[in-house]
Amino acid sequence: MEKVLIVDDSLVQAAQLKSILEDDYDVTTVHTAAEGLSAASSDEFSLILLDVVMPDMDGFMLLKKLQDELITRHIPVILITSLADIENEQRGLTLGAVDYIVKPFHPLIVKARVNTHIKLYQYRKQVEYQSMTDQLTGVANRRKHDRISVVKWQEAVRLKVPFSICMFDIDKFKVYNDTFGHPAGDKVISSVAKTAASFLRRNTDFFARYGGEEFVAFSMGDNAETAFGHLKKIRQAVEDLHIPHNPSTSQWVTISIGGVTVIPQMDSSYDAYLKIADTMLYDAKRFGRNRVVWANESLKQLREK
Ligand code: GH3
Ligand code: MG
Ligand code: MG
Repeated sequence: MEKVLIVDDSLVQAAQLKSILEDDYDVTTVHTAAEGLSAASSDEFSLILLDVVMPDMDGFMLLKKLQDELITRHIPVILITSLADIENEQRGLTLGAVDYIVKPFHPLIVKARVNTHIKLYQYRKQVEYQSMTDQLTGVANRRKHDRISVVKWQEAVRLKVPFSICMFDIDKFKVYNDTFGHPAGDKVISSVAKTAASFLRRNTDFFARYGGEEFVAFSMGDNAETAFGHLKKIRQAVEDLHIPHNPSTSQWVTISIGGVTVIPQMDSSYDAYLKIADTMLYDAKRFGRNRVVWANESLKQLREK
């Protein structure tokens, strides 16, 4: 059930709105703008019904705060008010409200408008999800990586925690495709993605298909030794899938991994370290593939095998 938040200082009106919507939605009611702001920031609402006239912070001010915050600005807001003049309606819509309902309202009209905006919200979320997801593997795609990496890097700068970035690449994959065909190659890409993703499940981990047979991952909090150790396990897990690569030599499909761990500084960029991870990957290929090469905090190389 989609979640709807009602912010209204009038207990009677809040209860009335709730009774109109509670058959179809999971409704939460709060009675001050401050409570509204904290509820909207800590839970996943698909719509907010916001009363304009409230003591302390009014609905316009709350709407502006919701629009200013990255984590709440996507939530559609319908303003509900007795301020029926054009200027107020225009002010609300300019601030970013999706709709404006003037009191006294008719329950069926409230319901219809809420339904419409929830449908639009669901549609938008679905489009956004699809545009950020790789179709073949179901993991995040490069666009999502580019979007999220900047945010997480800044977070790590602020928190002064180690940040690890790595690139993976399937070994000799051109030969695999030439031997088994492209559709079989696609299955391998999916299996590798699934295996790696199963090791990168912490909420500080991120994993994406970067393109073709290349993947990128980053995580926060671990030092170089720990990150290196974890990535060795992922590399081993792919080898342990025992997907035949070369029937004549009975080799399995393998991946090479290059990575780096750094304590991000204000003046350092994510992209510069992504390049270092890519250089480590190049070295992993050069040293014989199916291995992890890592650059530690002082850019000293840690090598598997
Ligand atoms: P290396 O060990 O140096 O990485 O060798 P490689 O053959 O894997 O590298 P190369 O870059 O020469 O070839 C990558 C191959 O990956 C070529 C391309 O056909 C294949 N590939 C890229 N994207 C896909 C895909 O979506 N599906 C399939 N089946 N193959 C893909
Ligand atoms: Mg009021
Ligand atoms: Mg390759």
